[in-house]
Amino acid sequence: MAIERTLSIIKPDATRRNLTGKINAKFEDAGLRIIAQKRIQLTKAQAGVFYAVHKERPFYDELCEFMASEPVVVQVLEGENAITKNREVMGATNPADAAEGTIRAEFAESVGENSVHGSDAPDTAKDEIGFFFSQLEIVG
Ligand code: ADP
Ligand code: MG
Repeated sequence: MAIERTLSIIKPDATRRNLTGKINAKFEDAGLRIIAQKRIQLTKAQAGVFYAVHKERPFYDELCEFMASEPVVVQVLEGENAITKNREVMGATNPADAAEGTIRAEFAESVGENSVHGSDAPDTAKDEIGFFFSQLEIVG
């Protein structure tokens, strides 16, 4: 299996409830290493660029507003099959469908306020990591 890197975001609903450490423990327990991490406050415009792929969706405006509502923690996770593994640890987008023990099953408040973002493929992982981190900030 290949060692991969993926972009993770701990979303405002989770930072607001002081869940950063509990969520990070889920990543580390699954064998994912946090090789870069910073807490930032996004503007709505920056959230809009990050989520541009969803701009035609009905929830786009609400999503951008939410992502700019409180600080987020952006991180690079590294490990075997990190992209898929992270999606497994996160659970389904809608917490009502998320498997037991996943981050979204335990912590998400709704389909929109669902505690974490994770890249969905190698090309998006590369782009999303580059959106938030310079090479110097990633120490693998
Ligand atoms: P995921 O984050 O699981 O990859 P998507 O890429 O489909 O899910 O959607 C991006 C984000 O948009 C979701 O994590 C969630 O915050 C929000 N979202 C998705 N679907 C809905 C919806 N039906 N209503 C409100 N917000 C949504
Ligand atoms: Mg997605």
